[in-house]
Amino acid sequence: MPRLNKVIEAFERRGLPTFFTRDWHPADHISFKIRGGIWPTHCIQGTPGAEFHPSLTIPTGAVIISKGDSRDAEAYSGFQGTNLAEQLQRLGVDTIFLGGLTADYCVRDSALDARKAGFAVTVLKDCTRAVNAKPRDGERALADMCRAGARLGTSAAVIKYLASTQQ
Ligand code: ZN
Repeated sequence: MPRLNKVIEAFERRGLPTFFTRDWHPADHISFKIRGGIWPTHCIQGTPGAEFHPSLTIPTGAVIISKGDSRDAEAYSGFQGTNLAEQLQRLGVDTIFLGGLTADYCVRDSALDARKAGFAVTVLKDCTRAVNAKPRDGERALADMCRAGARLGTSAAVIKYLASTQQ
């Protein structure tokens, strides 16, 4: 979290846009065990469970993207069922730096969808964690993302790069 916050703050200093995706599930979402899904009940719309972590830096002007908000559709990717791609295109974004939870589900699927939509993607390896429901799921997810053309980066490298290109 502190590493991710440093990247977010560096983006904010440079006036670069930041997007925050969140699960925003109805109480009877299809992904929940009560409906035969694989996840415990989580991130129910409008409840504390759906809030961002209190230590996360969310800049003024950041865009919040809610996903997984229809009861019968899972959405690991921030692009699925949202207008994220259109919003990024409208801003002229060509490269996305991705962090957060979880490396083997939401980060993975978001990276793959971002590649399909034509964005360059750098996954901040030190700013994400895997569930690892099966051992090595996280490693496999990183490999999947790389195979799709995503690059792996670190928070320190991105911050250093941004500082070196400071106008
Ligand atoms: Zn979910």
